[in-house]
Amino acid sequence: MSFRGVDYLLIDSRFSEQELLVRRTARRFVDERVLPLIRDCFRDARFPAELIPEIGELGFLGANLHGYNCAGMSNVEYGLVMQELERGDSGLRSFVSVQGALVMYPILEYGSDDQKSHWLPLLQSGQAVGCFGLTEPGFGSNPAGMITRAQKDGPDWILSGEKTWITNGSAADVAVVWARTAEGIRGFLVEKGTPGFTTSDIHGKWSMRASVTSSLSFADCRLPASALLPGAKGLKGPLACLSQARYGIGWGVLGAAMDCYETARSYSTIRKQFDDRPIAGHQLVQEKLAGMITEISKAQLLALHCGRLKDSAKLEPAHISMLKRNNVAIALDCARASRDLLGANGITDEYPIMRHLCNLETVKTYEGTDHIHALVIGERVTGVAAYK
Ligand SMILES: Cc1cc2nc3c(=O)[nH]c(=O)nc-3n(C[C@H](O)[C@H](O)[C@H](O)COP(=O)(O)OP(=O)(O)OC[C@H]3O[C@@H](n4cnc5c(N)ncnc54)[C@H](O)[C@@H]3O)c2cc1C
Repeated sequence: MSFRGVDYLLIDSRFSEQELLVRRTARRFVDERVLPLIRDCFRDARFPAELIPEIGELGFLGANLHGYNCAGMSNVEYGLVMQELERGDSGLRSFVSVQGALVMYPILEYGSDDQKSHWLPLLQSGQAVGCFGLTEPGFGSNPAGMITRAQKDGPDWILSGEKTWITNGSAADVAVVWARTAEGIRGFLVEKGTPGFTTSDIHGKWSMRASVTSSLSFADCRLPASALLPGAKGLKGPLACLSQARYGIGWGVLGAAMDCYETARSYSTIRKQFDDRPIAGHQLVQEKLAGMITEISKAQLLALHCGRLKDSAKLEPAHISMLKRNNVAIALDCARASRDLLGANGITDEYPIMRHLCNLETVKTYEGTDHIHALVIGERVTGVAAYK
């Protein structure tokens, strides 16, 4: 059955026909192609790689980028795609976010003409997969401390170090790797098969099970001069990529929240307890549903407003921190409340709630934790940085 959407405040009236069309397309793809297989993928800890060509054909990879076959969607259209994909699964949305915002975006923004014309069409169509290596075993929230290093050796670079918790890591044909150099932090495109570059997958995850997460190791990898992203200098290079990805997350988690809410709402009208009454008729149940729909509606407005700001080039990183932090938090709250309303059934994978709940624990941590985004907002309103 197709998803009917969640629109308490008639926010759909604020979307254009084109935006609604894009949402319908993504919604149908998730209903028909993702939902039938995602439970088993999560059980088996398997990413549904067979969907990649279709995702590419639909224009979802690098969807809000322009040129090189990219769909050139508006940022609101892109946000709606992220929302629907994450209604399917956060792991699927993560794949698309990493490919578009963390791999294609830096190549488009910072890459040479050769890098763009070689990689962007391949990544857009899904013929190639990319990953983004910033986090290290000792440096997560504070990437400025990274110890991965690239040193000049004649015209080449020698890359050594380790990255971890890298989405798509072992599946990637190309890794965007950030490393310390004599001239500050620089980005490199490291191709699969480069001697000295190895990957190993992280197992035992109870979250993002339908997503590949890996460690990357660079043992004196020799890279040609052409591997350097010429336009990225300093930490602002990777941080700008993260802003792109976090914007998508702010929309994506709405999809997970909407799925949890709608599952609980519909269940509560069918499940009967005490005097053969549906549990929806109990005041405490209604209070939970009212809380969820209120928070989802506020989060939808926040996402839409940020999308409109982004489309008019007025969205700032501190705005994105509020979007990411708030919307992830309300999505987790909705998942927890929905789990509760389903009683024992809420813990099984017959329903999507525990899967979303587990996934959202990652989404709270990656791309800047809840704490770090609170500090960004705090710095913005006080002028005082409190990270250290
Ligand atoms: C499934 C998954 C996929 C990921 N994919 C990628 C990827 O593709 N590429 C990539 O580069 N990384 C990726 N990450 C890594 C992710 O970005 C980091 O986990 C994240 O930045 C947090 O770093 P950490 O885990 O080292 O936690 P830490 O930085 O060690 O933080 C631990 C706790 O301390 C708190 N804390 C730290 N510093 C402060 C402070 N100054 N003030 C207050 N609280 C603080 C944090 O908020 C958190 O609660 C992924 C992670 C996961 C789980």
